[in-house]
Amino acid sequence: MKTTTKSDIKITKTNHSKIQDTDFDNLAFGQVFSDHMLVCDYKDGKWHAPEIVPYGPITLDPAAKIFHYGQSIFEGMKAYKDASGGVFLFRPMENIRRLNISAKRLAIPEVPEDYFFEGLKTLLKVEKDWIPTAEGSSLYIRPYVFATGAGFHASPANAYKFIIACAPSGAYFSGKVNVLIEEKYSRSANGGVGFAKAGGNYAGQFYPTQLAKDKGYQQVIWTDDTSHEYIEEAGAMNIFARINDTLITAPISDRILDGVTRKSILDIAKAEGIKTEVRKISVNELIEASKDGSLKELFGAGTAAVISPISGFGFRDEDFELPILEHTYAEKLKKLIIDIQTNKAEDPFGWRVEVM
Ligand SMILES: *Cc1c(COP(=O)(O)O)cnc(C)c1O
Repeated sequence: MKTTTKSDIKITKTNHSKIQDTDFDNLAFGQVFSDHMLVCDYKDGKWHAPEIVPYGPITLDPAAKIFHYGQSIFEGMKAYKDASGGVFLFRPMENIRRLNISAKRLAIPEVPEDYFFEGLKTLLKVEKDWIPTAEGSSLYIRPYVFATGAGFHASPANAYKFIIACAPSGAYFSGKVNVLIEEKYSRSANGGVGFAKAGGNYAGQFYPTQLAKDKGYQQVIWTDDTSHEYIEEAGAMNIFARINDTLITAPISDRILDGVTRKSILDIAKAEGIKTEVRKISVNELIEASKDGSLKELFGAGTAAVISPISGFGFRDEDFELPILEHTYAEKLKKLIIDIQTNKAEDPFGWRVEVM
């Protein structure tokens, strides 16, 4: 292994790059990992300088609190490489800030922003050959923090690890999904941790999602936990409905994650002259709009898939089909946002950050 020091970040390079063995033409999502990762430890009351090390297993004490009390948070972002080799991030400060919003809620010490941002830029320089360039592909970036400190006592750990790992990923294409509106289980509740990207939120979704899959749906639409009358999110994505020509999304709350894709779509739609509304959407309204033909589109929005169109939804024992349109907001908005992300279009919003 060769060790060099760039600014304050120590870099230890692997002797065994996997890049030659990686089939960049057939990348699944988040299945292949790049050669290096950033690791940063919190102990003795502070975060210590991040390092870049070869990607590989880590050792934890069996009493590490992540295993017992689930103190763990994460982020999801992407790096894009354009035709001339420029590398870009999309609104990275939003992810850095949100990681620390999640950290605070889970009683995890906040990660210094420069450790995250300078660390990520250094990691991307080391991993630049791992950033795919095919249409729709990107380097998916997974920053996460978890409790390494040991003890069976139910209290915050005294040690944590912050890691950034990367997965070169092809276009995330799931096709149109058929979703089930969920009335029994909740993803989140008032006063809970739904607004945080906390690991346990997703573990709690797996079982109800599996039940929906057993009934022939691919995804669950979460409703509010008290009345189950209002739709809130589509799986781990924010949800949008188009009724006539108005694009509607639920307001963020304790229960709904403040997605970067969601707010970018709202801004792009406004700039395109599309009427937008941020307000509660009731299941009843969706059903009525579906019956009278004014419900034109439903789609999820999030970093991984960008926009994931919904073909129909089930509610109780009834199924509702969405129309097949020639021109959709989903397609139009997806292209506009990806063109900004990948440096194919002007970025009037100042969202794109060139990192090298
Ligand atoms: C991550 C996430 C989103 C989407 O957020 P982006 O910042 O757009 O990736 C939406 N809902 C949930 C529950 C999420 O975990």
